[in-house]
Amino acid sequence: MADLGKKFTCFQCAAKFYDFGKPEALCPKCGANQKTAPAKPKAVKKENQVGPGLSRDRARSPRREDPPWVSIMSR
Ligand SMILES: [Zn+2]
Repeated sequence: MADLGKKFTCFQCAAKFYDFGKPEALCPKCGANQKTAPAKPKAVKKENQVGPGLSRDRARSPRREDPPWVSIMSR
């Protein structure tokens, strides 16, 4: 079996390709370097389950009204 290297899914055009063991994984379709891919939005933090409106409010507002259990889970 040929060494195809690591399998990638282009973050830009979603093309699937292998890097053939090269240090830089360039998409054959659009040429995007997969190393420059923006960080994927990770699974929402637990505190966000309270509601997006609430956490956005928290960021804007200087005062903290967190119940203690939110502080524990939002490390
Ligand atoms: Zn691409």
